[in-house]
Amino acid sequence: MSESEAAAPVGGTPIPLVDLAAQHAGLKPELDAAIAEVIAQSSFIQGPAVAAFEDAFAKALGVRHCIGVANGTAALMLALQASGIGPGDEVITASLTFFATAEAICTLGARPVFVDVDPVSATLDPVGVAEAVTARTRAIVPVHLYGGPCDMDPILAVARRHGLMVVEDAAQAHLASYRDGLVGTFGHAAGFSFFPGKNLGALGDAGAVTTNDDTLAARVRALRDHGRAGKYLHDILGFNYRMDGLQGAVLALKLRHLPAWTEARRGLAARYEARLGEMGLMDRGVTPIRPMGEGRGVFHLYVVRLPPQTDREAVQRALHAAGIATGVHYPVPCHQQPALVGLGCGDGAACSPSPGLPVTEDLVGCILSLPMYPELGVERVDRIVASLDAALTATAT
Ligand SMILES: *Cc1c(COP(=O)(O)O)cnc(C)c1O
Repeated sequence: MSESEAAAPVGGTPIPLVDLAAQHAGLKPELDAAIAEVIAQSSFIQGPAVAAFEDAFAKALGVRHCIGVANGTAALMLALQASGIGPGDEVITASLTFFATAEAICTLGARPVFVDVDPVSATLDPVGVAEAVTARTRAIVPVHLYGGPCDMDPILAVARRHGLMVVEDAAQAHLASYRDGLVGTFGHAAGFSFFPGKNLGALGDAGAVTTNDDTLAARVRALRDHGRAGKYLHDILGFNYRMDGLQGAVLALKLRHLPAWTEARRGLAARYEARLGEMGLMDRGVTPIRPMGEGRGVFHLYVVRLPPQTDREAVQRALHAAGIATGVHYPVPCHQQPALVGLGCGDGAACSPSPGLPVTEDLVGCILSLPMYPELGVERVDRIVASLDAALTATAT
């Protein structure tokens, strides 16, 4: 065993990337009661539990409408469709995101136009957005990646100048704020995901559309439920994208804890950053991804850039050996996904204005997600940073 390996805090109790069991352990009695109530009501599709959650989530954000749907991908798709996006339309978005962002656009027959991200925040570069607008552009989908709000003012200015719709991808950014508003209230509409691992997570799939626009809200409500105008009367072609009653009940109770969980995440992120500084890792080129100045992130993920020339897989293996799980969000950007090659996006140039997406392509090679969940605790953060220090030293070439 080499000196550096011996110095590493090998072993210790495993630290997962996300720990849903830790969250649910404390909530068990509340969850049981909420689930029992839905069963007692036999109201399994939408129903009063979903309506109550929609109301509570809209109030929490300060937005007129929240429409619960089956998942976050459906939320984005319905928000875009209700915004009038369809075949042949160009939609400007980021390539550094979960694939569902692009998928929602492509499902409607629209074409994603990928714009590069800012290297510090990893969110849409507003200058790139302005340069990507063509005569066919109809919408912008800003992705509040890792829970860090996009720089909305210049993005909204571009949208106003060209009459574009703005549909926020808020799947990772529940309660994130920008200036004096919350993410999900800036665009014409927003899509949220309540996938179990998200900051507000259901016990299965769920999502929501938020909007201040009454007409758009009515369209989403119809589209999620077979385009229904009455029990067996259908005005338009829609989908079965409704939210389950059980998920509505679970989400309503979890929503009450979300502000405290969000503050816990922010505290842990501050601790990570402080320790990375104190241990000299920032001087060695470890750079946390941070929201832009006006934004307050909610750290769905805690992501750092590793120093140039780092062997990321070796660092991940060393951390794994020390009991610490890590991830890469995301290793393959949307414009390089096999599924999008047929759309002419495979070479990175066809769907992206020149000079391509150099920041995105650089980031996917050097980002590393470290464990982040409200119950993580500062002691574990300290152990993770110490282990990262040891891993970087051990794997340095
Ligand atoms: C999770 C996620 C989605 C999709 O949400 P689902 O509920 O999994 O369908 C969309 N965009 C981003 C950025 C996400 O993280």
